[in-house]
Amino acid sequence: MPSFKIYRGVAGLYDYGPPGCAVKSNVLAFWRQHFVLEEGMLEVDCPCVTPDVVLKASGHVDKFTDLMVKDEKTGTCYRADHLLKDFCKEKLEKDLTLSSEKAAELKHVVAVLDDLSPEELGAKLKEYGITAPDTKNALSDPYPFNLMFQTSIGPSGLLPGYMRPETAQGIFVNFKDLYYYNGNRLPFAAAQIGQAFRNEISPRQGLLRVREFTLAEIEHFVDPEDKSHPKFADVAELEFLMFPREEQLSGQSAKKIVLGEAVSKGTVNNETLGYFIGRVYLFLTHLGIDKEKLRFRQHLPNEMAHYAADCWDAEIECSYGWIECVGIADRSAYDLKAHSEKSGVALVAQEKFSEPREVEKLVIVPSKKDLGLAFKGSQKMVVEALEAMNETEALEMKAALESEGEVEFNVCTLGKTVSIKKNMVSISLEKKKEHQRVFTPSVIEPSFGIGRIIYCLYEHCFYTRPSKAGEEQLNVFQFPPLVAPVKCTVFPLIKSKEFDDVAKEIAKSLRAAGISHIIDITGTSIGKRYARTDEIGVPFAVTVDSTTNVTIRERDSKNQIRVNTNEVASVVKEVIDGQSTWADIMWKYPAHHTAPTANEE
Ligand code: AMP
Repeated sequence: MPSFKIYRGVAGLYDYGPPGCAVKSNVLAFWRQHFVLEEGMLEVDCPCVTPDVVLKASGHVDKFTDLMVKDEKTGTCYRADHLLKDFCKEKLEKDLTLSSEKAAELKHVVAVLDDLSPEELGAKLKEYGITAPDTKNALSDPYPFNLMFQTSIGPSGLLPGYMRPETAQGIFVNFKDLYYYNGNRLPFAAAQIGQAFRNEISPRQGLLRVREFTLAEIEHFVDPEDKSHPKFADVAELEFLMFPREEQLSGQSAKKIVLGEAVSKGTVNNETLGYFIGRVYLFLTHLGIDKEKLRFRQHLPNEMAHYAADCWDAEIECSYGWIECVGIADRSAYDLKAHSEKSGVALVAQEKFSEPREVEKLVIVPSKKDLGLAFKGSQKMVVEALEAMNETEALEMKAALESEGEVEFNVCTLGKTVSIKKNMVSISLEKKKEHQRVFTPSVIEPSFGIGRIIYCLYEHCFYTRPSKAGEEQLNVFQFPPLVAPVKCTVFPLIKSKEFDDVAKEIAKSLRAAGISHIIDITGTSIGKRYARTDEIGVPFAVTVDSTTNVTIRERDSKNQIRVNTNEVASVVKEVIDGQSTWADIMWKYPAHHTAPTANEE
């Protein structure tokens, strides 16, 4: 529900109410189980307030932007791509006079929307004559708007900071300690669940685009020269909807592909990325996401960050269309390199060789004496610039010095070029024995928008069915027991001390077994009480209609079995822990066909 509602809420700030909050805890608990525990990941919990230097290094201060357009008269802001998308979709749906060529063009624009540059986007808005939705005034050209909430750290107000727009950076800056914690071995992964903040230009669609949301992120660090995954075989045979880049660009739709084939053909860049795609598929479908409304869409070339090797979004179809809920990206070594450069701390891994290997190493030895005579006070900066040359630059200088005896050299820290002579630096390639290889790991990152997943889950799990008398439609949330906010309800059939006592005993045994439950002793009809718990998705209801035997009713089939009061907790636990299905239980226990079924819905 919208937060601060009593004060006419600010759009994009939402909270979870009582049953929703329990659903969220269950989703996060399963995420921890499925990823952190089963994959042996390290879990961290970093601060939300992040110093400017961290987000400057990661590129967020300069580039974490969306393109915005302004109503030229009122100043109201809109997201440029949303306006273009809305325009195309409306035309496609409502304009019956649209030629087939124009329809194909509009469909193509929607397909490549995320791939458009600011200039292309601006040109399309102009070409289609798109104006401000509310006033029909002219719009400005698109320009970037940074999505981070800025703040300052400490009382002086001098240290700038931001509310983190993602949790990942906390993991990258802690890489050195995490690597050490993992025994200086790769691969390993670190996971984090936490709040992320984005000052969205136009938050809309309820929980789907909000300004504060829960992210669950995994950073899996791997050797860039070996991105195989030891457990890939476990997911290789999964077959599900995938939407590779080529299919999108040629106007086709997503198709079912076997994951192992997608990786072996190179459609998915590497096994580790493929492994996570498979694990994300299993996670979402276990939660209750409909397999037919889940697809993995590959990013288009421009949509992907320039450093990324490959990127796939798990998209879920709901009433708002296909929504990106999980991003799974191979971010290469970009983040660790950026933080190494900015902080001066080497965020690297080592591979120790069993046998020393012979390698050619570049050796640059500046002659401090000759450089001092030539550049006096600037000598130190020239020395540092010479030592910082990469192999190509150094070999070019060596060749130039050998042929010309002198070369012009740009020293950025001095802001000018200086003339380097042959006697001032020696450059050579020397053979050396190395005992280890030092490298920056690559990162594979699955990033889960928990609110979006929960919203789609609500839609996929919701259905209505007629009441017994047929006069009204009853709402049901078909949550798997894993997700259900409450696992079991206990109803004494009629108001009586005896039945109330049995219900309390059953509740005690459920509590001891760690099963969340509620007792409903309101005297309303059993049918009404069933309807009330179906509405929040409680999978099992226990009705106390005798002091020795009670019924357990399953929400979706409405089938009931008869068990002894002291068996209730173990039967319910067996199903919610996934050791048995309800069908297994139906085999074991006698079905119940008499009261209270008779006066049910
Ligand atoms: P990104 O870093 O942009 O790939 O976002 C990671 C995930 O966060 C996405 O896959 C979404 O599920 C989720 N997400 C991004 N922006 C929002 C938002 N404004 N509101 C809710 N969830 C979001």
